[in-house]
Amino acid sequence: MVNERDTQYLLLTPGPLSTTRTVREAMMQEHSTWDVDYNSIVQSIRERLVRLATNDTARHTAALMPGSGTFAVESVIGSVIPPDGKLLVLNNGAYGARITKISQMLGIDTVELGQAEIESTDLGQAEKILTEDPAITHVAMVHCETTTGMLNPADAVGKLVRRLGRVFILDAMSSFGGIPMSMESTGAHYLISSANKCVQGVPGFGFVVADRATLEATKGWARSHSLDLFDQWREMEAKGGKWRFTSPTHVVSAFARALDELEAEAGVNARHARYAANQQTMVEGMRRIGFRTLIGDEVQSPIITSFYYPDAAEFEFQKFYDALKSLGFVIYPGKVSHAQCFRIGSIGDVHPEDMTELVGHVAKVLEEMGVNLVVSG
Ligand SMILES: *Cc1c(COP(=O)(O)O)cnc(C)c1O
Repeated sequence: MVNERDTQYLLLTPGPLSTTRTVREAMMQEHSTWDVDYNSIVQSIRERLVRLATNDTARHTAALMPGSGTFAVESVIGSVIPPDGKLLVLNNGAYGARITKISQMLGIDTVELGQAEIESTDLGQAEKILTEDPAITHVAMVHCETTTGMLNPADAVGKLVRRLGRVFILDAMSSFGGIPMSMESTGAHYLISSANKCVQGVPGFGFVVADRATLEATKGWARSHSLDLFDQWREMEAKGGKWRFTSPTHVVSAFARALDELEAEAGVNARHARYAANQQTMVEGMRRIGFRTLIGDEVQSPIITSFYYPDAAEFEFQKFYDALKSLGFVIYPGKVSHAQCFRIGSIGDVHPEDMTELVGHVAKVLEEMGVNLVVSG
């Protein structure tokens, strides 16, 4: 092993991902949800999240929401669209489809621009739909579509949505903290992410950075009590960082530590550079072996990469997976509907030398399986 790891294996997944020992150790401290020590940690997390997302801290605010990232997405979709509102979802993957499903189940008037998983968001189509349907009040999209690893053009969509006077909801779950972005660059009124993605905390809550005035106008619109974003935010604002119900105290401690470590790494630009180096090292190595990536490099994020299964009868994904796991690397199954793929994440406490080691193992495992890949070019 290149690194002295204190876990059985490295998670090359889109979250939960490998965290540092110090982030995990922060969970040893126990807190009461009513105590000022704990509430001040929550307040500092909220302030730091706003600062990570924008320089205009007066215009923005943040709320934390318990549950996995999907709960935070559902709290936004269910809380910020008025009863007579209408949502356009720009969908090119499983997470986009999840937003549509949430919206429909909540009885919200929903339209979708549905595209293939390997196609980037069609701006012209989005503009046409928005221009022809003035009833649409909100637009939602996924920034890094973790299904494929595609980075969607959030900045261009945000500009369009703002120009046409609608509210923009951005699922930046798997990109925030790992790819430089801001409320201004993306035009997002609501930017959603969670504790266990690129900030490198552990799972247990999601968060929303919001345009304060837009959020303040949403009182009474929530379609669920426990996922009422306005109510959760107001409680935190009015009561100095108190959550309405039992909060994941250990996860919050770990997240505060993860934010310290993001700063110590010199911030999002530095983390992005590390993730990009991880991804490049891994993809170059996989291509040398003969693997092909699902999507083009021009739309590929540094977060997670999809690879086609090798075109060889000897290849069995489960065998491949188990062998790599026993060597200390957990990869991720595929999620695209039209092709046989697997995914390798490059986020978390993972470094280029880990990727070099992984690639060496992949070559060896394939050889042992009797898979011969023809390297082209
Ligand atoms: C991880 C992720 C989510 C949330 O998934 P959970 O399993 O609920 O944490 C939502 N959107 C995207 C793009 C994601 O990568």
